Amino acid sequence: MTGPILQLERVSRRYGSDALPVRALDDVSLTVERGEFLCLVGPSGSGKSTLLNIAGGLDRPSSGRVLLEGQDISTLPEHRLADIRLRRIGFVFQAFNLLPVLSAVENVEFMLQLRGEPDVRARALAMLELLDMATLANRRPAQLSGGQQQRVAIARALVGDPVLLLADEPSANLDSQATENLLALLRRLNDERGISIITATHDPLVMRHARRLVTLRDGQIVADTLS
Ligand code: ADP
Ligand code: MG
Repeated sequence: MTGPILQLERVSRRYGSDALPVRALDDVSLTVERGEFLCLVGPSGSGKSTLLNIAGGLDRPSSGRVLLEGQDISTLPEHRLADIRLRRIGFVFQAFNLLPVLSAVENVEFMLQLRGEPDVRARALAMLELLDMATLANRRPAQLSGGQQQRVAIARALVGDPVLLLADEPSANLDSQATENLLALLRRLNDERGISIITATHDPLVMRHARRLVTLRDGQIVADTLS
């Protein structure tokens, strides 16, 4: 496949009433090529999470178009969107969103099961191994630290070989060594598997690893720089 992985065309997302609108995103256009490692930065409330959610089909724009691998996803019916999220996108949420009744490995293999794929246990364990979590595979989220839960969430996002990884503040609950390990892993996935990565962060360590920094302020892009 060629062409950009993601295109936002004049995307706005408004919340609130017509009288008192909040412009979470305000006429944003952005093209992300395949294989990019892009970092969204900007103060709290500038629209980073809103942009990630719209890019991944978890939320829809109030106006404008969102093209994922060239396909307009802004008007797709929900079941088609759900299928694209399952097969093409990996999400790492700020709040992990692990299922509390499942063990770490069950959380990771869950989406492979949804896709009806073979060897789910072996693949989930291999991904946990890559994240140094194999020995904790049978623990439930409540029995893991924040950083360990974060690694399970990352394993879950990556196990299905997504074309696009979206990570919202992925280092928020990690110490600096764990953050370095995570970034080395993301860099490797980006380099070796060509996974496109968009992350939102406040963390200077994460910014240093990104190849492109896009700065948001009040729902608008105010800077877009390559490093
Ligand atoms: P960031 O991730 O950069 O901190 P967000 O995308 O979460 O920013 O939020 C952008 C703006 O949209 C903020 O002003 C926020 O308060 C507002 N916002 C986000 N989600 C909602 C919501 N569900 N309802 C109302 N306002 C929201
Ligand atoms: Mg946010």
